[in-house]
Amino acid sequence: MSVWDDLIGQEPLAHTLREAVAAARDRLSGGSGRGMTSAWLVTGPPGSGRSNAARAFAAALQCRDGGCGQCHDCHTALLGTHPNVTLVATDRLSIGVDSVRELVRSAALMPANGRWQVVVVEDADRLTEDSADALLKSLEEPSPRTVWMLCAPTAEDVLVTVRSRCRLLVLRTPSPPAITRMLVDRDGVPEVVAAFAARASQGHIGRARRLAHDEATRNRRREILRIPTSLIELGACMVAAANLHEVAQEEGQGVAATLDAKEVGDLEAIYGASARDGRARGYPGALSTLKKDQSKRRTRVVRDTIDGALIDLLSFYRDVLALQTGARTALVNDEVRADIDSLARRGSADSTLRRMEAVLKCREAIAANAAPLLALESMMLDLRV
Ligand SMILES: [Zn+2]
Repeated sequence: MSVWDDLIGQEPLAHTLREAVAAARDRLSGGSGRGMTSAWLVTGPPGSGRSNAARAFAAALQCRDGGCGQCHDCHTALLGTHPNVTLVATDRLSIGVDSVRELVRSAALMPANGRWQVVVVEDADRLTEDSADALLKSLEEPSPRTVWMLCAPTAEDVLVTVRSRCRLLVLRTPSPPAITRMLVDRDGVPEVVAAFAARASQGHIGRARRLAHDEATRNRRREILRIPTSLIELGACMVAAANLHEVAQEEGQGVAATLDAKEVGDLEAIYGASARDGRARGYPGALSTLKKDQSKRRTRVVRDTIDGALIDLLSFYRDVLALQTGARTALVNDEVRADIDSLARRGSADSTLRRMEAVLKCREAIAANAAPLLALESMMLDLRV
């Protein structure tokens, strides 16, 4: 077991990082440390394990054995509680300039353990232009012991000023067999379920895990895959849009129910007994900021849930297209092959491509802040059989 074992199907990337860790050790012992890089940009599709890769690297830098996976440094670095590893994961839609200035300050401090000060920014695509500006100097001329790990879906998602100062690391989409093996070996999932989850997740490890472990997730996916053949008349299209929207809203409420009250409680605890009746100075302002953030997070959960459903829909039409064009590839949704087959026989490859475009258009509209329900309705109408 080492920290690299967590990188599922990413052998080339793990190799690069191992070399960088060796160079870092060389530098710590007074060598030139050639090959050590202090600003990295880790990219890869959602669920490919960007944050895991960054954490593994952080752990390997702090570990005396280069990432044994067993010692205190490894454990705490992976969890994000290591004093010299800062994890920045945001639930907000953007990372503000104030938090970046704070990060730059703490990144410049000499690490207490005499090794490295590692900062992992999980959503570097959410840096605003001002935040990026605040970061540039530190990326270009970092303090001798500072390592930045920025993560984003693709290099293009990050402002060019930032990405041009980083060494790029690209994660591949993990293959279904690699994910199946992980689910079986590590999580003890039965082979059949693991293979299904790996196939249905299309290389998204988090989704594969949820599908393998959570029946509600499997049921929801089954419902989504029923949509394409149900869209026969206008009414059905409107119902499908409303249902999908409602499920996403419920998901958002669910997250809110588990997190919101706890966060308000934590805030009250910070401000003490006088917080509740509004006498504590600064409390009303802090509470209002928190409420705004919570509302943004709800919005994001709703959008993410809808996006996950749209990806499932796309995979369905991709399967339809595969049958129509006679492509010799395995179906992502083999369990609904009959539906896929019936839709394939009823339409042409052109009509399927048009439907895939409608789904993509809907994803883009929602990402660009369109009202989700309206975007969904318009898409369902375009998907009508
Ligand atoms: Zn270790």
